[in-house]
Amino acid sequence: MLKIHKNHSLKNNNTFGVDIASAYFAEPQSADEIKFALEYAQERNWNYYVTGEGSNLLYVSDYDGLIIRPRLNNIAISDESASEILLNVQAGVNWDQFVSYCVSNNWYGTENLSLIPGSVGAAPVQNIGAYGTEAKEIIEFVEALDTRTMKIELLSNNNCQFGYRDSIFKRSNDRYIVLGVTFRLQKNGTFRLDYGNLKEEFSRMPDQTLADLRETVINIRRKKLPDPSLYGNAGSFFKNPVVHRNLFESIRHRYGKVPHYEMNSAKIKIPAAWLIEKAGWKGKRHSNVGTWPTQPLVIVNYGNASGIEIYEFSEMVRQSVLDTFNIHLLREVTLIDISEN
Ligand SMILES: Cc1cc2nc3c(=O)[nH]c(=O)nc-3n(C[C@H](O)[C@H](O)[C@H](O)COP(=O)(O)OP(=O)(O)OC[C@H]3O[C@@H](n4cnc5c(N)ncnc54)[C@H](O)[C@@H]3O)c2cc1C
Repeated sequence: MLKIHKNHSLKNNNTFGVDIASAYFAEPQSADEIKFALEYAQERNWNYYVTGEGSNLLYVSDYDGLIIRPRLNNIAISDESASEILLNVQAGVNWDQFVSYCVSNNWYGTENLSLIPGSVGAAPVQNIGAYGTEAKEIIEFVEALDTRTMKIELLSNNNCQFGYRDSIFKRSNDRYIVLGVTFRLQKNGTFRLDYGNLKEEFSRMPDQTLADLRETVINIRRKKLPDPSLYGNAGSFFKNPVVHRNLFESIRHRYGKVPHYEMNSAKIKIPAAWLIEKAGWKGKRHSNVGTWPTQPLVIVNYGNASGIEIYEFSEMVRQSVLDTFNIHLLREVTLIDISEN
């Protein structure tokens, strides 16, 4: 029988380390237990919210409802050929443990996504990405509970409507609870080295194996990003904005060299980190909250900051970028529980 905990501290359930609580908390271990938790909440008119490891969330206040943390933890081979393998991975599996498992078996596809915190269940929600790779490239289909019908559905890659840090799961107002993801991995794949300094760093590895590529990614990430167990954070706080060419040209006119990526002839993506730095926020700290000195896109809880302090700091950064560049940054991090998002 599923246990519903009351007044549960969420301090260890969010990588910002914010000290808040939920009125109720449950860790279902099967699809049936998830259904039970949902029905239990619905019968009592409680709000509910599904989380993984809380590495892409900011709790702004206590949550007056039921937090559901799926704990389905199995990995199984669902099909295999000489060149490929299909793996069904349940939502509660830790993402990086899954990557480690793939790399240790010499299956290609996940390695550039090494050391991203969080659960497998959240990977398709946000379409996680790093070092030139996105989860959508290896996702075959997603098994999800449709909370409107209470039926389990298989959504093909196409039906997941993946975009940049986006998917149907993110857009459909909590309609789906991800139960598991099936990944297609390669047995004789190629290395993806075309991002940033990855190629250069990898070339220094003695053997240049798949495991070496994972280690290279981990080393680069450790140098650049704060470890959430030491400095609470949720990775990139904002998405990289895509702007119209006219606006980009006016910024280039003012600043000379502007890092960018051309999406098409009209749309240009500019790194949010560059905008934040130029707006004067790199390494800036207000009391317990600040931007990380080597990556200003990451907002850090330096002490016992509350969710509202972190939120207010992020709004100052956002306003400043708006005032300086006329660019409205969108959050990558989900705010709970605040209605405007
Ligand atoms: C140091 C650091 C570095 C990071 N680097 C990266 C990076 O390089 N690339 C990147 O893309 N992200 C990065 N992130 C963000 C984060 O790791 C990912 O977004 C991750 O997928 C979140 O997983 P989670 O289990 O913690 O999800 P949570 O934060 O718990 O939830 C995130 C969202 O997914 C939903 N969700 C979670 N589980 C389910 C489920 N089973 N069914 C339905 N919805 C669900 C939640 O409702 C929420 O909307 C980083 C974070 C940190 C702290």
